Amino acid sequence: MRHQRHDLLIVDTYLISMDPDLGDIPRADILVRDGQIVEVGPHDAVREIGDVQIIDAAGTVILPGFVDTHWHLWNSLLRGTVGDRPGTDYFTVKRALAPHFELEDFYWAARLGLAEAISGGITTVHNFDHNVRGPQDADANIQAHLDSGLRGRFSYGHPDSAAPENTNDLDDLVALRARWPSDRLDGRLDFGVALRGPYRTPPEVYEREWETARSLGLPITMHCDRCLREEGCRSCGLVRLEELGLLGEDVQVIHAVHASEQDIRALARTRTRVSLSPMTEMRTMGFPLLTELLEAGVQVSLSLDTLAMPTSADMLGHLRTIISVETARTGSGTVTPRRLLQLATIDGAKDLGLHDSVGSITPGKRADIVILRSSDINLVPSGDPVEALVYTGQIDNIDTVIADGRVLKRHGRLKPADGEENPVTVAAIRREALLRRAAAAGDWHLPTRTTRQPVPDLLGSVGDPGEGSLQ
Ligand SMILES: [Zn+2]
Repeated sequence: MRHQRHDLLIVDTYLISMDPDLGDIPRADILVRDGQIVEVGPHDAVREIGDVQIIDAAGTVILPGFVDTHWHLWNSLLRGTVGDRPGTDYFTVKRALAPHFELEDFYWAARLGLAEAISGGITTVHNFDHNVRGPQDADANIQAHLDSGLRGRFSYGHPDSAAPENTNDLDDLVALRARWPSDRLDGRLDFGVALRGPYRTPPEVYEREWETARSLGLPITMHCDRCLREEGCRSCGLVRLEELGLLGEDVQVIHAVHASEQDIRALARTRTRVSLSPMTEMRTMGFPLLTELLEAGVQVSLSLDTLAMPTSADMLGHLRTIISVETARTGSGTVTPRRLLQLATIDGAKDLGLHDSVGSITPGKRADIVILRSSDINLVPSGDPVEALVYTGQIDNIDTVIADGRVLKRHGRLKPADGEENPVTVAAIRREALLRRAAAAGDWHLPTRTTRQPVPDLLGSVGDPGEGSLQ
């Protein structure tokens, strides 16, 4: 980790803490030492500041960093290849290109996704890796996450091409923690297991995988994107999973768009977590059942899923879409802007078991913080700041992003660590080479446009490496 950390005093901001005891403070100061929030109070009430860097935050709103709970970082390089033309749907492209990834591709795909996360104020990312072909593939993703400066979880999956009868590499799952002891993880990363489950593997596979994950104390994540056709696609079989003992507090189910009322009750009974990815769900599966899940008391959080489909790390845009869709779908405005903001922050932290350390701006928690300019044209005139952010906020409003006390975006520009290569530029080069390799193997057809297009100069989206001032 090469980003420098400084003690910080953020001065005179509108604080949306997402902490029920602290609430909102219209003019607040926040003191950060060694990456920890040590004091939050009304403007000028914070004393004993000592040697700190001051961030003048007048005219801004501050939120806890957003928490994403399911993201396939490895296929960020597939953005621009997935589309509406025949043969370019997400699953076809993923299957064609997955075998051609080199280690550097995994590293820079993850760095590209994580750079976009920083840009969008997402400070925690759950990396669901479903193209782990060997230990080194996992290690490249983990190193990228640590180098990015962000927090998160790495969930160890299977090769994209894995046959249903093959289990995940459970031996390497055991070896992973010896290879990555906690002192290498900077307190920012933990591990989970990404499983295909009964939807895609036979009992002898998923039973062994579940048993191993639970014996290691590792949380489990699994897509639930298929319906039970024998039940007219009105169920995704979660009652059956409960009967098999496969649900529980240690399990995160993703999507569940076909869940029946009984399925949802099974999720609530077993305290199983649900991660919704509304943008990709509406593209390929159907409507997320947000209102039904919340009314049943299910622990819900939000996720981007992949950059390969038409989506981006614009969490505020996602929230705005969700609230419109829920209103249209249910005919009522039951999900408020503040409830959505909870889903994107503290509820995401709960899903990942991180709510004691992030998810709200609370003294004692780690400093994962987003500062937005509240005087930008799309946010004025403003009444309630939470409503303004959810109804009209966008990535352009995000001025500063702090993760674990390190400033990773300032004045609207990413701040790379000293000597760091630009992930946007390198990922573009890696993508070109990936497509050429796949084309040479007969797995991909290069459109003329791609071969002739020069690598774009995207340096403008990243700050100068030498830029040291926080002001
Ligand atoms: Zn997914």
